[in-house]
Amino acid sequence: MRLLLSNDDGYRAPGLAALAEALADLGEITVVAPERNRSGASNSLTLDRPLRVSPVGENRYAVDGTPADCVYLALTTLLEAPPDLVVSGINAGENLGDDVLYSGTVAAAMEGCLLGTPALALSLASPEPRDYARAAGIARALVEKVLREGMAKDWLLNVNIPRGAEATLAQARVTRLGRRTRQAGTIRQFDPRGVPVYWLGPAGEPGTEAGPGTDFHAIADGCVSITPLQMDLSAYANMEKLVTWLGT
Ligand code: MN
Repeated sequence: MRLLLSNDDGYRAPGLAALAEALADLGEITVVAPERNRSGASNSLTLDRPLRVSPVGENRYAVDGTPADCVYLALTTLLEAPPDLVVSGINAGENLGDDVLYSGTVAAAMEGCLLGTPALALSLASPEPRDYARAAGIARALVEKVLREGMAKDWLLNVNIPRGAEATLAQARVTRLGRRTRQAGTIRQFDPRGVPVYWLGPAGEPGTEAGPGTDFHAIADGCVSITPLQMDLSAYANMEKLVTWLGT
């Protein structure tokens, strides 16, 4: 089995190291990851300059680009043979509900899926200190299942692992995305020359869409949450209403 590993926290991130270690004997592993933390980069591609790829170990590469750049480069250029699976993470922090629209962790997995390789996005929904070894054990169990049973090429699974030692893959819940409340306000500060600078506020709390069946609910219950994602954002329910509204 050939595995492509990436992330959005950068190639030196402990979550990626734990993941690579846990999967080491399951197949041939290549890591292509951003050279620095690109959390929140979403699916962006770098189109205004060339990309530089730095070898940082055996089958390990750091790219001065986004998570999506990394997976795109790996699948189209760097890898001699296509991988069987793209595994992104393990992210330092959850990617629940609205987060998936901004997440570089999910974007790296999505890029794999867009290019025809099934993918897993893994996030550790726990504050510091984060127990990546335990989360990596769950990642390993999932990849072993893919090894045994395969996975459809269009599958993109968003996996969140809660804190605590009790969560296992056997008790994982299949979930839908919840919704957060509005993001906290922007924080204005002043640089040493008195010029205002702005920090975007932290993500909002789990909102009204955090009940049973959602990813937020599974994590709150201490269960591994697995949400199957798709790229198609079309609002099918609104199509007919739109035709009526346009009068076409
Ligand atoms: Mn991140």
